Amino acid sequence: MRIELLPSTFDDQGVATLEQRLTCFLIDDCVAVDAGSIAIALTNDQRSKVRDIIVTHPHMDHIASLPIFIDDLYPSLKQPMRVHATPEVIDLLERDVFNWNVYPRFSDLKNDYGPVMEYVPIPIDRSFPVAHLTVTAVPVNHIVPTVGLIVSDGQTSVAFSSDTAETEEFWTLVNKEKHLEALLIEASFPNHMAKLAEVSRHFTPASLGEELKKLTHNGMDIMAVHLKPTYREEIIKQLEELQIPKLTVMEPGKIYSW
Ligand SMILES: [Zn+2]
Ligand SMILES: [Zn+2]
Repeated sequence: MRIELLPSTFDDQGVATLEQRLTCFLIDDCVAVDAGSIAIALTNDQRSKVRDIIVTHPHMDHIASLPIFIDDLYPSLKQPMRVHATPEVIDLLERDVFNWNVYPRFSDLKNDYGPVMEYVPIPIDRSFPVAHLTVTAVPVNHIVPTVGLIVSDGQTSVAFSSDTAETEEFWTLVNKEKHLEALLIEASFPNHMAKLAEVSRHFTPASLGEELKKLTHNGMDIMAVHLKPTYREEIIKQLEELQIPKLTVMEPGKIYSW
């Protein structure tokens, strides 16, 4: 399985930087987990292949360019863009984003080939197919309805925490998974911002260190993501101080293979 955390910030030469402002993971060039930077960071080849997008929750950093992505492809889509999300998240997207005010309700619109966008409600605690992948979603602890995911291609599995604070069901699922190669987990704020992390339901390195004690698997790659760019260096230093084997920070724009 190939996974890229899409870049969301570019330097004055147009080269992707390591700062992550938006969240979008691209799996095997064709399935996206969240869609923050989907319209700005895909190659044309990837753009032509991505037709399945899993939205873990409706926060702006996870959906910012989803409407633009569908807009770009509108005339050429020969099959609808499938947006996989829980019924609660679908309702929020329809109410707050695709509501004719912020953007058109693409789920009601057709091009010359047919519908351009289709919601696929995802079940909780039961696996479901997304393109060539099998996905399991479980609620995590964030301030809006949010799911963590385990994604498998039949040989390899990768877990995505999405945005969360301390949580339980996610770890039950992760600990049951036989072929888990990587855990992509959020580390949003530095330790001195523990209060804000708590009210906004995110991790700091310290709370993440505690949380990872729930992990019974050994040996998989643990990749920290969702580091607030303003505190990136501080968070990285505090993550290093945890001295957890194979814990690193995922680099946007780099392709990881498991
Ligand atoms: Zn969030
Ligand atoms: Zn977020």
